[in-house]
Amino acid sequence: MQLGHLPRLALAVRPTPLQDAPRLSAYLGGPRVLIKRDDLTGLAMGGNKARKLEFLLGEAKARDADVIITVGAPQSNHARMTAAAARIYGWEAILVLGGERPEEIQGNLLLDRLFGAEVRLIETTDEYVLTGVVEDLARELVRKGRRPYVIPRGGSTGLGAAAYLEAGMEALTQLNGLGVRPDAIVHASTSGGTQAGLLTAMKWARAGASVVGISAGPPKETVVRRVTGIVRDLGVVLSTDWQVPPEDVVVYDDYVGEGYGIPTPETIEAIRVVARTEGILLDPVYTGKAMAGLIDLGRRGVFTRDQTVLFWHTGGQPALFAHARRLLTPE
Ligand SMILES: *Cc1c(COP(=O)(O)O)cnc(C)c1O
Repeated sequence: MQLGHLPRLALAVRPTPLQDAPRLSAYLGGPRVLIKRDDLTGLAMGGNKARKLEFLLGEAKARDADVIITVGAPQSNHARMTAAAARIYGWEAILVLGGERPEEIQGNLLLDRLFGAEVRLIETTDEYVLTGVVEDLARELVRKGRRPYVIPRGGSTGLGAAAYLEAGMEALTQLNGLGVRPDAIVHASTSGGTQAGLLTAMKWARAGASVVGISAGPPKETVVRRVTGIVRDLGVVLSTDWQVPPEDVVVYDDYVGEGYGIPTPETIEAIRVVARTEGILLDPVYTGKAMAGLIDLGRRGVFTRDQTVLFWHTGGQPALFAHARRLLTPE
């Protein structure tokens, strides 16, 4: 597996820590949980997008782009990290954010402002409409003589997923050092790049760990379709013919609740449990739901007491502040 030929810009602090979570494991009564701290990638409050952006913006530079465009929800972590990363390398960022107009500028949206990104808020979640807005914007910029580089939602392309292939190998090296062989890796999955990369890493290394994606919004079939497509695109990037059949992609959409961006009572409970056992902050949109999934899968016996699960913390904490009211609901 060779990534050395891909253009890359430094953005993430690597390797991120991999920690045992003994108090959380004891609280749950098993499985044993370890946590991979990709909330500590260091870029503008951290998260998984920092890794993907190294390759994506590497390509932007190689193509001599002069403005970066990306798309997401109003509380997009990806948009926030793109805004920061663009500044590091002297670009302007334009963020096309689709969703309800928020009552208050908080969380990631506040940080987007601090990075001086141009935010275009569109009141729709229709992917088709948003893609159209981005394409029109890119065309308009080209007409004006600019050289935009467009990053799709979540940075989840084959190239972005290369970062999670590498991250999977990074974790395996750390686990080897600890003498731990996890039975599963659990993480929040939405646009599919993280899962595609980790799944490819585990298959390539024959590590024997299943990769379990917990959807933060879309139905299972959507996430599975995205993951299989991105694995194929990752194969193209690395000139191999990687394929995963859809039945090999494990995704649970049982923990979404009312929808993307709306924490369930179990999400809030999971955030409190991890905060109070390990002093680690999860987020209300992604990792809180993923941990609620891990806890429930343990209770249902999908993970047994004597198994070991690596929980991949993908970041997202700025959104905590945009959900203060829900997080203060009585216990
Ligand atoms: C984007 C994001 C995810 C989902 O990762 P994908 O690669 O888009 O599936 C999970 N957690 C957080 C905090 C994120 O920002």
